[in-house]
Amino acid sequence: MYYVDPHIHMVSRTTDDYETLAKMGCVAMSEPAFWAGYDRGSVDGFRDYFEQLTAFEPRRARDYGIQHFTWLCINAKEAENVALSREVIAMIPEFLDRPGVLGIGEIGLNKNTRNEAIVFLEHLDLAMKTDEQILIHTPHLEDKYQGTRMILDMLTGDRRIDRSRVLIDHVEEHTVEQVLDEGFWAGMTLYPVSKCTPARAVDMVELYGSERLLVNSAGDWGPSKPTAVPDFILEMRRRGHSERAIRRVVYDNPIEFFSQSRGFVFDPPDAVELVEN
Ligand SMILES: [Zn+2]
Repeated sequence: MYYVDPHIHMVSRTTDDYETLAKMGCVAMSEPAFWAGYDRGSVDGFRDYFEQLTAFEPRRARDYGIQHFTWLCINAKEAENVALSREVIAMIPEFLDRPGVLGIGEIGLNKNTRNEAIVFLEHLDLAMKTDEQILIHTPHLEDKYQGTRMILDMLTGDRRIDRSRVLIDHVEEHTVEQVLDEGFWAGMTLYPVSKCTPARAVDMVELYGSERLLVNSAGDWGPSKPTAVPDFILEMRRRGHSERAIRRVVYDNPIEFFSQSRGFVFDPPDAVELVEN
């Protein structure tokens, strides 16, 4: 089955991973800007990173028939440095009109601090002024519930925001319902050690339906599995879900969400067109 991974950090992955993903049916992916594992020292560090995300990664993916899209921001961890964050936010527009840029992300909260909230709101303002979509990271483990609540309050407090153009990622059982109820898209992240397993993700599809629900691997430089979306597909099949129902979550939904972005120009694989007819 063809699928899209809407959240994966390919700058941290090998070319062999691209080949494996292509063989498993991955036809497109989107890569949000994230923390490199160390704090970057200057705005130029981010400019170089955005160059890699918008120029080199799409080329690397294309060699395996995968279409690569991206999101730009300074992540919540580095947002503690508010002065640097403001320099990065001022520089982001240099890249927003490049092909394949879908919007601002992954912004969000990490430890739910005041500085993180300040920088989150300034990213929101940039997205509204530039008419960009938004991809949001919610905090890990013990900070997730409160952080998700804070994020929802900041989003719903801004009347300019079109909720159907915002994806709130890394939802779990205790946060998915409020995200969907408020009209946002929700992303489930399949991680081997934390976040969500394929079985728990399928449980959530069964409980809440597949409308505005996405599933991703968030493969990065830590313990993660770039082929986690095919694991989800297998678990859906095992439980007797139809191919159409599976495809909605792993293919139709991400494309529907991304299609709201002017940077999303997608060439569907031929076989998908045949299925449509
Ligand atoms: Zn991420």
